[in-house]
Amino acid sequence: MGCDGRLHLPRLAADNVLVVEAEFGYAADAAGLHYVTGPEAGCAFVYGRGSATGAARMYCCFDEPDLRAPFTVSVQAPARWACLGNAPVLSRPSDGEAGLWRFAPTPAIPPWLASFCAGCWSGSALSCEQDRGDPLPVTVQAAGSAGARLDHRYLADLLTRPLRYYQRKLGVRYPYGTCDLVFGPISPALAYSATGLIIVQDQVLADEPDALFMATVVAHELAHAWFGGLVTMSRADAWLDEALTTYISRAAVAQTVPGATPWDGATSAALPDQDYARDAAAIRHLEDLIGPQAVLDGLGAWLRRHAHGEATKDDLVRCWSQASGQDLRAWAFETLRPGAPGLARPARGV
Ligand SMILES: [Zn+2]
Repeated sequence: MGCDGRLHLPRLAADNVLVVEAEFGYAADAAGLHYVTGPEAGCAFVYGRGSATGAARMYCCFDEPDLRAPFTVSVQAPARWACLGNAPVLSRPSDGEAGLWRFAPTPAIPPWLASFCAGCWSGSALSCEQDRGDPLPVTVQAAGSAGARLDHRYLADLLTRPLRYYQRKLGVRYPYGTCDLVFGPISPALAYSATGLIIVQDQVLADEPDALFMATVVAHELAHAWFGGLVTMSRADAWLDEALTTYISRAAVAQTVPGATPWDGATSAALPDQDYARDAAAIRHLEDLIGPQAVLDGLGAWLRRHAHGEATKDDLVRCWSQASGQDLRAWAFETLRPGAPGLARPARGV
């Protein structure tokens, strides 16, 4: 064991099989496995939150974003608890009983997107039709007393409308076998996405934010299934994961929330994704150059070409160049970089 808490494996051969038995403590800060005591005896909320280079606080792994692998997870849970993971449940204990929850293997995913959550919650299960194949199972849940504030129909719409929008506009199916939205006592993040699993701070339900704010939170986290999930930007271009997610999720919100204008100045500044809006403006700038359809066509081609892997900004620019018939390398050099100056443009309703 190294002094940095990592296992050093200096003489590995390609055909070695590594088996690690380990016990991990609960995390005290952002990345790791968290345990939050609930007000009700015997019911807590446990959730894993990875981050780039933070997955190793949950389990032993080669913690590199580009080293993807399928994950097969089982969770031993107490009576009355339920579990959600990154893939459909294969088997579980009878309702209310303690036992083992087994999940199907995931597609190849980066370590920091492997997670699960467990606790006592209430909610509803439904499904979202897809262009091809079986409907996608979708659930909306809230832990503990937050369940009483759950408006199932409203929240399910917030999830399924952008889901249909992304599939239709990008021409790329939702990449996972489950889509679960859980409101739980997480902090400090407002929300985050793992594979097939979105967890939002349950305080949001008590605060009763306006429809646009809540729709933006859900649409943003869902868009990460494609941007950051299905395809991960290389480390040097990691800022583009958030920029692309903000660009496409605001487009979805503008189309699916009546009267929403997320790019209007004051409105944009009040949204939870405002920190990424400036970088997303580079992609709106590209819209002016090649048109929104070519932007979407390029994104769709990039997602299909690099599905379940890592890609670079240059790969993306190549797809946009092919989709538009224009060589966009000079534009990308000048404009497609974090906080690029000169992108201010008049606010508009999308
Ligand atoms: Zn994000």
